[in-house]
Amino acid sequence: MNQSSFDATTPLAAELQDLTRRRKALQDSKAPLPATARVIAVANQKGGVGKTTTAVNIASALAHLGATVLVIDLDPQGNASTALGIDHHGDIASIYDVVVGTTDLADTIVPSPDHPNLLCSPSTLDLAGSEIELVTMPAREHRLSRALERYLGSDQGARVNYVIIDCPPSLGLLTVNAFVAAKEVMIPIQCEYYALEGVSQLVRNIQLVTSHLNPDLRLSTIVLTMFDSRTNLAHQVVADVREHFPSETLTAVIPRSVRVSEAPSYGQTVISYDKSSPGAVAYQEAAVEIAHRGATN
Ligand code: ATP
Ligand code: MG
Repeated sequence: MNQSSFDATTPLAAELQDLTRRRKALQDSKAPLPATARVIAVANQKGGVGKTTTAVNIASALAHLGATVLVIDLDPQGNASTALGIDHHGDIASIYDVVVGTTDLADTIVPSPDHPNLLCSPSTLDLAGSEIELVTMPAREHRLSRALERYLGSDQGARVNYVIIDCPPSLGLLTVNAFVAAKEVMIPIQCEYYALEGVSQLVRNIQLVTSHLNPDLRLSTIVLTMFDSRTNLAHQVVADVREHFPSETLTAVIPRSVRVSEAPSYGQTVISYDKSSPGAVAYQEAAVEIAHRGATN
């Protein structure tokens, strides 16, 4: 760029300078590994708020920081499997087989081409029927949790530092299975109208699971997604969410970014697709925060 014509006072220039500063800060950042695997369910019954995008990009960012991360795709849509570049046609061993009890979790896990430390247990469309199949099964709420415990206790599973479970947009038995298997819930909230609508119902559901099924579960993290800095509404949503959840809401806010939305069509996370784009930088910052928060909790 021609320095003489560069006006450093414009909003765009300020944004670029800010991004450069944050990229540099990320280069120097380290993330502590947890002593035992952290199991995090990414949930919000509202559709399209950025659950899958957040699950795969935080997982990839953690893997790039040196952690071994397993993504469990618990949504029949299979979007997390697609985003991680993993084939999930009907014939493969998938998380469905684990939930119905015919296959060990270990036998469904495949590495993602995105990063050698990034693993995935993919979903297939069969999973759509499992909400109904599960109803009559014994220990129907504990099926994922038991499979995951067995895996994490094995030699193969012992190297996993994070398990990130991408939940479907509902509060059905699959999400309950994720809540029973997890210790933490991460809620992505989209910076738009009615952002907080449904969140209190979700929080009540987490409390129900805590009191009846899994006393270890807590809402640990809220991630603000698809932030558009040009709108007053987005700023208002950020302020509202921070007011309601001051300690859970991450400082990093994920901007709306074309790079984030186009990465899955290349079977890549945005961290691999364009590491220095604003969305990738924000997801890496979020991952560093999550790693540090877990270390102090
Ligand atoms: P579902 O409820 O269907 O599982 P979801 O909550 O998992 O949806 P995503 O699939 O992650 O939501 O995101 C919904 C859409 O928004 C996708 O098309 C995704 O590419 C897009 N999207 C998510 N985050 C961003 C972002 N930061 N910038 C631009 N587009 C985004
Ligand atoms: Mg999704």
